[in-house]
Amino acid sequence: MDRNLAECVMERGAPMSGNWMSHIEDVYLGLWLNPQTGKRSPRAACEKIVIANSLDGSEASLVDEMGMKGSLAVVADPETWDALGSRVAAALISAGKTYSEVILDRHPHASMTEANALAQRLDDVESVIAVGAGTINDLVKYVTAKDRRPYCVFGTAPSMDGYASTTASMSLASGLKVSKPGQSPKGVFLDLEVLSAAPQRMISAGFGDTLCASVARIDWWLSHRLTGSFFDDAPYLITEPDAGQLESRVAGLGERDHESVGWLTRALVLSGLGVAFTGVSNHGSMAEHQISHYIDCFARERHPGTLHGQQVGLATLTMGRIQQWFLEQEYPPEIKPTRIDSDDMARRMGREAAKECETAYRQKALDEKGAAMLNERLQDIWPELRSELRAWVQPVSKMQQELATAGGGVTAKELGLPVDFYREAVRHGHEMRNRFSFIDLACDAGLLDDFAAAEH
Ligand SMILES: [Zn+2]
Repeated sequence: MDRNLAECVMERGAPMSGNWMSHIEDVYLGLWLNPQTGKRSPRAACEKIVIANSLDGSEASLVDEMGMKGSLAVVADPETWDALGSRVAAALISAGKTYSEVILDRHPHASMTEANALAQRLDDVESVIAVGAGTINDLVKYVTAKDRRPYCVFGTAPSMDGYASTTASMSLASGLKVSKPGQSPKGVFLDLEVLSAAPQRMISAGFGDTLCASVARIDWWLSHRLTGSFFDDAPYLITEPDAGQLESRVAGLGERDHESVGWLTRALVLSGLGVAFTGVSNHGSMAEHQISHYIDCFARERHPGTLHGQQVGLATLTMGRIQQWFLEQEYPPEIKPTRIDSDDMARRMGREAAKECETAYRQKALDEKGAAMLNERLQDIWPELRSELRAWVQPVSKMQQELATAGGGVTAKELGLPVDFYREAVRHGHEMRNRFSFIDLACDAGLLDDFAAAEH
């Protein structure tokens, strides 16, 4: 480490309440040193991230700093307009800026249809200010990416970890939700006064989206050890300075306590920054995310309107139960070749979506030879693998307690999801993505039907 960098890291010191950007600033600016590799963190695509107790009064200068010139539009929905959009607009007026208001319908969706409609409304603007959470950010990210028009986002809820991401999660006409190339916002501005006032379910969703880190890590390491897929510790190492902070304040999330929401917001931002190290989201998105994804794509009229993170929180508990069952076994499971039932997939997913999913599923599916090799590998490394994975286990009872305390549902029933459909999502979520996990192990060992049937 050169002297200036060492001083600069020391001055910034350990994260503490109120000093919300410490450590995060080092990470996204490319100054954090990975203790394992000695390498600096990659510079994040996003130019500026601000988490502050309040941003009231600094909205216009932040927009200016991002070089948002020319005709401006503020995009919000009626709820996010009330939560923050009107304040941003008033700040722009005070600063002598003109802008157009683009207010979407209540409860917008990040669908291609709504993206096309938004693209038309933004046709003659040069820069965009998004005011909202996941959906509005994804819509604006996707629409502005096509011609690289700059945009920044003022967040309204700590509900997911994707504010600074470069991809947009978009629904296709087939019902399938896919990750579309987007662009990073130039600035991500998170005002804790606003985020603390978000609906409770959005706060508990954000908690669910961070709670999954331990089960995702276990799945990702399993995949690495069994299939040779790559693994990187860096996304977890950057969260270490914050270890225990959010956990000790979970009760505060249930009361929308400002400080607790601050630590949640840090956890979400750090999780999002993990992607910059690996280019993929595996560190926080394995089987539990596939289950949530299945719900969003195929629940249709059975979807209770739950948020991504609420579903991820619930599926994290399911994955915890499945993983911990395996880790208690002295002997490894015996794997058979993967059975893919194309007709059943088409019945559940619709023909078009099933075709897409089957392509992904076949990439990780095991044939006779693959299953034999995996069994051999399991025999070789099972005791070692068990002890490696046990280090990261969070007891399900603890995670369940925390999720409930944060205001999140811990059963499908509590979330309003039909139980039989949730079981279907547990049983078949892994068909959607080429990421190998304990669910695939359970499926190929013939155990997944029973695991799914035990969920409620
Ligand atoms: Zn997520």
